[in-house]
Amino acid sequence: IKLKDAALTSLQPRIAVPRYDRSVLRPGILHVGVGNFHRAHQAIYLEDLHNAGGDPSWGICGAGVRAPDARMRVELSGQDWLYSVVEVDGTELAASVVGCMVDFVEIDPATNAPLLAQMGHPDTRIVSLTVTEGGYFVDSATGRFDLAHPLIAADIAAPGSAHTVFGAIVSALAARKSTGMAPFTVMSCDNLPGNGDAAREAVLGIAQAIDPDLAAWISDNVSFPNAMVDRITPATGDRERALLGQHFGIEDNFPVFCEPFRQWVLEDDFVNGRPELEAVGVTFTKDIHDFEKMKIRILNGGHAILAYPAALMGVEFAHDALLQTVIRAFLRKVLTDDVLHLVPAVPGYTPHEYLDLICTRIENQGVADQISRLCLDGSNRQPKFTIPSIRDNLAQGHVPVGLALSAALWCRYCAGRTDLGEDIPPNDPNWDSLHATAVAAQSTPQVWLEQSEIYGDVGKHPGFASLFAVCLNSLQTNGAEDTLRQYLNDDT
Ligand code: NAD
Repeated sequence: IKLKDAALTSLQPRIAVPRYDRSVLRPGILHVGVGNFHRAHQAIYLEDLHNAGGDPSWGICGAGVRAPDARMRVELSGQDWLYSVVEVDGTELAASVVGCMVDFVEIDPATNAPLLAQMGHPDTRIVSLTVTEGGYFVDSATGRFDLAHPLIAADIAAPGSAHTVFGAIVSALAARKSTGMAPFTVMSCDNLPGNGDAAREAVLGIAQAIDPDLAAWISDNVSFPNAMVDRITPATGDRERALLGQHFGIEDNFPVFCEPFRQWVLEDDFVNGRPELEAVGVTFTKDIHDFEKMKIRILNGGHAILAYPAALMGVEFAHDALLQTVIRAFLRKVLTDDVLHLVPAVPGYTPHEYLDLICTRIENQGVADQISRLCLDGSNRQPKFTIPSIRDNLAQGHVPVGLALSAALWCRYCAGRTDLGEDIPPNDPNWDSLHATAVAAQSTPQVWLEQSEIYGDVGKHPGFASLFAVCLNSLQTNGAEDTLRQYLNDDT
């Protein structure tokens, strides 16, 4: 059955469908970056809320600032903005159709005028974001917003049109200020430490450069709650579309598959109302940073630690990587020796319990999370997920051997060839430069750590640098698997 509003009743009871009247929803949330994660996470909390009779003013309007976002819009427009979410637990699949997205702004990357119009609409009371780690324009060397980035500079030079989401937010807030319209909350749902603070820094940085009065008004009137967001959500491919058809008989242009687990911890700081998210399992807290640190350092860091050896050893999926004893032991040892001691406990989990939990989640074979997805965009992810743990260890006088090997594995990956001799396709917006540096590092390992925009001061630490060189050498001579074994045997 082709997914459409008119087909919903015929999908029941095998597939859960919206139990509310979609036609009365209004788009109180404008979401920028409608990828798979948003659709399997934030949208599901909202869907639960509407199914429980929640406030219909909190529907979702999709949006994006980049040309590739047009694809999602086109695919969903043919099915009344509906899509299916399949939760997979081992071999068990449970499908539901999500109806809380009620519109999708036309994609116009040249000016983003349709997006600015929707941001200026009084219905819009929250602008939420999943624009990836790289979408925040953080300079890794300084940890600060990169005001000099060409796209940001272009947004500052031409207010009123925008290339970036932050340029769009500033222009829209300026328009709302000038007409006396209440502002909106900017709610980041990306995986970066202090995601709300990063969004605030970006917005205020641009606003300050355009008009200091506007910046002051935004600072006083707009909020940027920090959030910890979690649900493993792989990319959608032919495998997922086929499984959906086989198991549920639905023809959906862009379904999303995910694990059953989900978590959202959020600061309660909203300037223009918010949905009653606590009624559907969202935790509101003032102590977000400990939750965030546990998740980013252990789960996202852990994904990065296992992904590069897996890729070098030719493993396709994360659950298969954990089935390989050597990768599993490597993941646990690096996290146990070099990361867990940096992470405070949070209500519900000690760091050790959290490590066990993430291993169980990653093992979920039905989710089939792609190693290539986990390897993506290391130049933006390493500085957020693993390098802070290196830095903290060094500050405590401990040279983290496992994280040095992990850095060497990423370098080896960027050299572009697996240990089986297969080419690794470009998998990073900065691939050309990473690749050239990784090739140069084969004879001069230090050049890898001299990428100060990624490693900052960490690369200058002599003890870390010499360990990194030893690891890289061993990867080149012995391959990933033997090097991991050597590391595992060293103190057992
Ligand atoms: P995706 O590839 O499905 O979607 C990414 C979205 O971000 C697309 O809409 C894309 O156009 C947009 N985007 C990319 N770069 C951008 C930029 N520079 N400016 C504006 N928009 C940009 O990826 P996804 O799985 O939806 O993940 C998106 C983000 O969600 C991740 O980067 C991460 O921060 C967060 N997240 C993902 C997961 C997961 O398991 N997939 C889990 C937790 C958090």
